Amino acid sequence: MRTERFQRVLQQLSSETDAQLDELATTVAAQRSTRASYRALDVARGSVCCHHCGSLAVVRYGRAHGLQRYRCKDCLRTSSAVTGTPLAGLRAKEKFAANSACMARRLTVRETAEECGIAVSTAFRWRHRFLQAVVPQQPSGVEGLLETDETYFLYSRKGQRKLPEPRKRGGRAKKRGLSKEQVPVLVAIARGQGFTADRVMKPGMKGKDLVEALRHVVKPDTVVCSDGNAAYFALPRELGVTLKMFSASKHGSPINPSFHVQTVNSYHSRMKGWLNGEFRGVSTKYLDRYVAWQRLLVWFKDRPTPEEFITSALGRQLINT
Ligand SMILES: [Zn+2]
Repeated sequence: MRTERFQRVLQQLSSETDAQLDELATTVAAQRSTRASYRALDVARGSVCCHHCGSLAVVRYGRAHGLQRYRCKDCLRTSSAVTGTPLAGLRAKEKFAANSACMARRLTVRETAEECGIAVSTAFRWRHRFLQAVVPQQPSGVEGLLETDETYFLYSRKGQRKLPEPRKRGGRAKKRGLSKEQVPVLVAIARGQGFTADRVMKPGMKGKDLVEALRHVVKPDTVVCSDGNAAYFALPRELGVTLKMFSASKHGSPINPSFHVQTVNSYHSRMKGWLNGEFRGVSTKYLDRYVAWQRLLVWFKDRPTPEEFITSALGRQLINT
């Protein structure tokens, strides 16, 4: 609705300088981003029960730090959308939408800090808080054909102090082949369905580790397709799935063309290109967060909205469902 006041503002714009118009555009963009952040946080709250005692007797109770506040009639404590989530305690929530947009573009912490006007250390902390709740957002009871395969990342202590034996960034394993320095990342994709499961495994993973990783992902009638790793033989025995080993002929082509793991392999190579390329390697300690980041982006076809990103960060599962 065009009020007289707004009409006057619009008319005044014709006399402003280019620099003033630029400043105005920046201010408007920041204002939009701020509103998107708070809207996303308010909308994402989802359940209306008390974060502290679980009571449903919750009423609106003003606003605090820009967010809708709620009060529980039973325990009398207040809460907001971020209470009890990984985003609790973070300041400058008005920049959450901008941070989400940067993360949707896979930007580095430096680039994100620059775009959002926050410290590099803050951008790093936010990145990990935003991904913390996404790690367990895995698919369950997948039907049809599940491609599974591992890829390996060199063990890295990037960012940790007191490195026992520093390795050049990037670097190489000292031993050839799969040693303890190689950390397996298992990825399982339900072909044609978009469901993706992942798990950072222990070096030298065994059958029981695989069973543990895929227990909730598969159903007994799931067909698991994998390469020749003997650890997979535990799956039919323990989980009742049908196992189709992908075995290549001497010429490298699969004997049965539908049993391949190409979807997983291209997923792996994109992940490695990004993490080892643009990010120049990531710390093994945080590898599960980065793997979750890729999973989230792929689910939303690289265009998660700030609302979708923030909702996922608050722990409501939108992906793999
Ligand atoms: Zn309560």
